[in-house]
Amino acid sequence: MNEPAARRGGNDAVDPAKLSQEPDVLIVGAGAAGIAAARRLIAARLSVVVIEARNRIGGRTLTVSMKGHPVDLGAHWLHAGPINPLVKLGRERGEPLRRAPVHGHLFIGRREARASESAALGRAFEIADRAMTQAARAREDQPAGKVLPRLGRYGARVAAIHGLVSGRPLDQVSLHDFPSMEYADNLFIAGGLGAYVARLAQGLPIRLNTAVTALDWSEAGVRVETTAGTFRAKAAVVTTPMALLQQEVIRFAPALPEPVVAAIHGFTQGVYEHVVLHWPDSPFRGPDRLASLLGHHREPPGLLTRIDGTPFHFFELDQPAAALLDGRDADAPGRYARTILADQFGHRAIRNLRVCRSTAWRHDPWSRASWAVVPPGLATIRDALKAPVDDRIWFAGEALSRAQWGTAGGAWEEGTRTAGEILERLKADLAPRKRG
Ligand SMILES: Cc1cc2nc3c(=O)[nH]c(=O)nc-3n(C[C@H](O)[C@H](O)[C@H](O)COP(=O)(O)OP(=O)(O)OC[C@H]3O[C@@H](n4cnc5c(N)ncnc54)[C@H](O)[C@@H]3O)c2cc1C
Repeated sequence: MNEPAARRGGNDAVDPAKLSQEPDVLIVGAGAAGIAAARRLIAARLSVVVIEARNRIGGRTLTVSMKGHPVDLGAHWLHAGPINPLVKLGRERGEPLRRAPVHGHLFIGRREARASESAALGRAFEIADRAMTQAARAREDQPAGKVLPRLGRYGARVAAIHGLVSGRPLDQVSLHDFPSMEYADNLFIAGGLGAYVARLAQGLPIRLNTAVTALDWSEAGVRVETTAGTFRAKAAVVTTPMALLQQEVIRFAPALPEPVVAAIHGFTQGVYEHVVLHWPDSPFRGPDRLASLLGHHREPPGLLTRIDGTPFHFFELDQPAAALLDGRDADAPGRYARTILADQFGHRAIRNLRVCRSTAWRHDPWSRASWAVVPPGLATIRDALKAPVDDRIWFAGEALSRAQWGTAGGAWEEGTRTAGEILERLKADLAPRKRG
């Protein structure tokens, strides 16, 4: 998902020819994790080079302009406000953060639900969350969906939403991993999350349009082969998404230790895609609210209405919906969204609905998924990747975060953690530079 130069943030100023071929640390990937790691290491006065395959920074965060409005094509929510480092940093920087509304819309057929029906849906979510959290503590790992209690008319909705935000249906998600995610107290940022992450990368030594193809750690430090030549560094931070590591887009020599390889191959691909709608006459009032639409055999997995108070809406595709549309033409996601909304509200209601864009991160050669998912029985794989390989290769990125998995905040947290560890481990090696 490459985009024109408008979205390259402040890095157009960085002349690739001026980047060191022998930095202290080479970072693979200029997404949230890579940017966080670079900032931390540079703040400690290490020399760093970030190698980015795409023609833009931000990875799975990307804000584009549509009809003059910023629209996120990747991450949009700042989840888990109290523990999200991007929220803390945003507050320190005076970024335009605002709380996400807690209450969404509920429609049953064409009518808005009664207060009692909305309250019942809220209760169903609470019961499900409690059941899964308790079961995760008390029982063997198993598919998270297996411990969902009976929730009457709202059961399918609860399972669908949890499956959507997990990236896979709950029967494909580890029970022990699922409730580790912290979701409460979400925020948005005016201008888009992708634009915010790009601002955080301003001035960093990032080389765009360059892919890392091989990482040799057979001798001292690391030798990194890229499509623009060879780099040497004392250590490397690899933020490449798990799906790409599984495809061996980077060849490691010697091969990575077996437990690391097993952890990488343990993840499955989480799927979550936006169909961006411009729908001025939508029946939803008030900005930034989620909507649950019930009463028809096909329900939208997720709907975020009137983003930033604009006529833009996200119709979200979960993994089963995306799989249904795979192999069809490029307009199929838009037709799917229109059909479902017409079923719900009637054809007149969607007369001025326009489909602006459908994302396909699951097919993007530099992501291949929206995030990584832990399947049942493999709840320890996130932790297995946290230890460095021979104090030279660190993995970072959304897949490693436990409390914020699959999120930009989690990726940032892991990039910062990794950088802190590198500073600690390489202290002796780097001391002369720091004193000088
Ligand atoms: C549609 C969608 C909606 C989402 N919604 C949210 C949300 O609301 N809130 C939220 O917090 N999260 C959300 N996420 C998840 C979030 O975007 C990711 O978890 C996060 O951005 C991942 O950051 P990262 O640094 O780990 O990986 P990435 O952002 O993928 O960064 C890795 C970078 O490495 C580069 N790269 C990979 N391999 C190589 C190589 N060999 N050589 C050079 N460069 C390479 C890639 O091009 C990429 O830029 C969403 C994701 C999607 C797709």
